[in-house]
Amino acid sequence: MSATYDPNNIFAKILKGEIPSVKLYEDADVVAFMDVMPQAPGHLLVIPRQGSRNLLDADPAVLAKLMPVVQKLALAAKEAFEADGIYVAQFNEPAAGQTVFHLHFHVIPRHDGQPLKPHSGGMEDIEVLKVNAEKIKACL
Ligand code: AMP
Repeated sequence: MSATYDPNNIFAKILKGEIPSVKLYEDADVVAFMDVMPQAPGHLLVIPRQGSRNLLDADPAVLAKLMPVVQKLALAAKEAFEADGIYVAQFNEPAAGQTVFHLHFHVIPRHDGQPLKPHSGGMEDIEVLKVNAEKIKACL
């Protein structure tokens, strides 16, 4: 049997304003912010306000609100970083690499021939995240 949603997970705390984040976008249903351990410059996360562990237990109506925002942020990140491509990733449960159990989509600018840094690698300087966030916001 699958584990249940923990309303005190780190992204739920970001949604409640209990811990800081470098925000990019928010509306009534969806929030986007910079990943603190980016696999490439401009790595961002898009999450629904409604809690679910991941895609497997998400309400399809929530996904319908979420995916247009994933697309919007992917287009903005591609333009902001003059990327050759955009990697969109989403992991379900630890066996698949999930480490934070609130549904999220990774959006990562990719450049030809440039490898990604490891998943959940080193923390980025907050000032760098802020500069990168402003670049993306300018393209929204
Ligand atoms: P996943 O393995 O798909 O669950 O990825 C979780 C992601 O959340 C990783 O890329 C982490 O770098 C990122 N992350 C963890 N804590 C925070 C935080 N407080 N703010 C922003 N990103 C975070």
